[in-house]
Amino acid sequence: MKYLLLIPDGMADWRVERLGRKTPLEVAEKPNIDFIAKEGACGKAETVPKGFEPGSDIACLTILGIDVKKYYTGRGPIEAMAKGINARMVFRCNLVKASDVMLDYSGGRISDDEARDVIRHLNLKKKYDFIEFHAGKSYRNLLVIKKDFENVKTFPPHDIQGKKIADYLPRGGELAKILIDLIEWSKKILPEVTDKANMIWPWGGGKMPEFPKFKEMRNLRGAMISEVDLLKGMARGLDLEFVEVEGLTGYIDTNYKGIVRHALKSLKEFDFLAIHTEGIDEVSHEGDVEKKIEAIEIYDEELVGRILDKADLSELKIMIIPDHPTPVELRTHVAESVPFAVYGFERDSVKTFSEISCMEGRFGLMDGIRLMDLFLR
Ligand SMILES: [Zn+2]
Repeated sequence: MKYLLLIPDGMADWRVERLGRKTPLEVAEKPNIDFIAKEGACGKAETVPKGFEPGSDIACLTILGIDVKKYYTGRGPIEAMAKGINARMVFRCNLVKASDVMLDYSGGRISDDEARDVIRHLNLKKKYDFIEFHAGKSYRNLLVIKKDFENVKTFPPHDIQGKKIADYLPRGGELAKILIDLIEWSKKILPEVTDKANMIWPWGGGKMPEFPKFKEMRNLRGAMISEVDLLKGMARGLDLEFVEVEGLTGYIDTNYKGIVRHALKSLKEFDFLAIHTEGIDEVSHEGDVEKKIEAIEIYDEELVGRILDKADLSELKIMIIPDHPTPVELRTHVAESVPFAVYGFERDSVKTFSEISCMEGRFGLMDGIRLMDLFLR
């Protein structure tokens, strides 16, 4: 038996007034996802444990059966694993625009080249010998610490837009002082290189995590396809083979065809494959209801449909589950339960896939950490 886990980021939603109080999933034409729900068994799952931020890091780790209370140390360290960076601690380091308030967490969507210049400059001017900066994509960079410290409390810059930054500087211990000092210092450095961003903003930091290895936990050979470093880092940490696919955009125009081609190939080589795609979440953040419906329909046809067409379904179990809801009217993530469906299990009475229909499913409301036990048993 082979196992395919589909994670359409942010696909779950709320009822939308002008859709007649239906959710985008209820309105979208998605015969292939509905096929999985109709021919299989459904339920809802809580993928974000209490007290955690509803992000893809927390939700995807939970879906994959990793106890975040025990193993999660921060977003920065997981992104660092994607790049093969070895350090004691890592923080996400946004290049931001701020006055005394946070103006733009994304530094005007600074280009990769310009961001790389900024990072090079920060490393050249060097403030502490145990701190390095690593370039990522656009405003998403990393601050790497080669020395042990007690961790500090930080605040994601996208959560404090329009708020006074003085109230949200890093807190606690020696490292907080160092990070605040670096933020101040960066205000002098950045304007020499760019006018998009004018300071750094470290957050989501922690020590490098030690995740349990998927193969040892499940006795299966596993792989992952994703469009983002966060999931790539997770794959490395869990010892899942990361499958590179060309032409991925992280948006609804991504190369679904390429993903399917690599997926079918990987399913021959591996027992378990997770496919995480970003496009539906991105349009949810844009707040465009019609576009979200369209994004679901494209995903259904171009990814799910092609896999159902070409894979050997007698030898395949498929689970589909969004990591977290990204309500399109809210334009951000929420820590609420998500619907899921599993093909290859005895059918229940659910006929379509949605936040509402899946409540009636055989599995009821489950703790997300139990999903892999259920799926891979
Ligand atoms: Zn998102």
